[in-house]
Amino acid sequence: MTTTRFAPSPTGRLHVGNIRTALHNWMLARKSGGRFLLRIDDTDAERSREDYVEAIRADLAWLGLEPDGEERQSERLTLYDAAFEALREAGRVYPAYESAQELELKRKIALGRGKPPIYDRAALALGDAERAAKEAEGVAPHWRFKLDHDEPIAWQDGIRGAQKFDPAQLSDPVIRRADGSWLYTLPSTVDDREMGVTSVLRGEDHVSNTAVQIQMFTALDAAQHSAQHGVPDFAHEALLIGKEGKLSKRIGSLGCDAFRERGIEPEAVVALLARIGTSLPVEPIADRQLLLDGFDLATFSRAPAKFDEAELERLNAAIVHAMDFAAVADRLPEGMDEAGWHAIRPNLAHVGEAAEWWRLVTGPIENPAFSPDDRAFLAEAARLLNWGDDPWHALAESLKQATGRKGKPLFLPLRQALTGMDHGPDMRELLPLIGEAEARTRLERASAG
Ligand code: GLU
Repeated sequence: MTTTRFAPSPTGRLHVGNIRTALHNWMLARKSGGRFLLRIDDTDAERSREDYVEAIRADLAWLGLEPDGEERQSERLTLYDAAFEALREAGRVYPAYESAQELELKRKIALGRGKPPIYDRAALALGDAERAAKEAEGVAPHWRFKLDHDEPIAWQDGIRGAQKFDPAQLSDPVIRRADGSWLYTLPSTVDDREMGVTSVLRGEDHVSNTAVQIQMFTALDAAQHSAQHGVPDFAHEALLIGKEGKLSKRIGSLGCDAFRERGIEPEAVVALLARIGTSLPVEPIADRQLLLDGFDLATFSRAPAKFDEAELERLNAAIVHAMDFAAVADRLPEGMDEAGWHAIRPNLAHVGEAAEWWRLVTGPIENPAFSPDDRAFLAEAARLLNWGDDPWHALAESLKQATGRKGKPLFLPLRQALTGMDHGPDMRELLPLIGEAEARTRLERASAG
């Protein structure tokens, strides 16, 4: 069974880039009837906040991406300790004593010589006595994972295709700080193993982490004599950029709150983020199953996905125009029924605008000043108004015959007199909602000037 996970750090709100990753993991799991897990990466006790954890849950719920389970790294520290000890016993973890300044100097020297700034493994060469001396000086070690340089690291990436890394070109990553706290690499690997994650789908900024983690998966399988877990499938999606073609600040600050405030439907966000950066067309698809049917990592491009707020607005309008009454009923103004929703929804960019348009039905409305000619025409309209199945059509027909008017001179003064506006919903649908008595009153009032 496919198991995916979305693993945000609760150090801020989700932004549209994170939301996209969450959505794709949800889709990957749902498409195959698998599980989608939420993993809260809160090992950084200082920067993690409970209100962010709650906001992450609320945002996923608003988007309809509810997880099948939730885990928190802060509650799993004993697992990380055990894995660390196992790797240490297997000789895959070693203590290092360099200060940040020393490491920076090494980097500069390497770069100055035109070499990649790879950690030189000086700490690995220390003997017991040298290590003891460091500790006697009061230098607590941080810990590095020792990469196996013997074989290239290779995987078939679900989006990027065949990937190959020479481990000798990577630094042995620091996995634990001198104060005992964890960096991202080991907890994530332990969790992916223990939680039975079969597919890791994340941003391409994690590609080199994956190279390291693949070795760590294998090392843990060898070192922890538990069942063999194997290495999950990996896929790395191209990053999300603004439509201007840059990694924009805007993207980093745009999230569910902003969408909600602007009246964007979660379905519009989902429809857009499901398709941008893929070879499939962006369409106003509110039906999740339809989106799932087309979902396929093979359609994902390696070029950055472009997020365009204007496109989101267009998609939102199209989705609103197709929304059923039942889906919006509790957000509509008092008294607005299914016929009202159907008359008005083609005019909406956002559901929240329904109240403005509904006022054309309930009134009061304000008329423009009409010419004497138009006033006589509207008096005639009030007289000819004849209620039946299709009062608008009947009125227009009889006025055409009685006055010889057609086109704009026929329709515009009627619309203005009946709604106070010169554009808006289809009058054929609107007039029955206004009702006979009120329509006659409005026509008479307009004709009186
Ligand atoms: N907490 C990590 C991040 O937000 C998770 C990355 C991953 O998916 O493994 O970048």
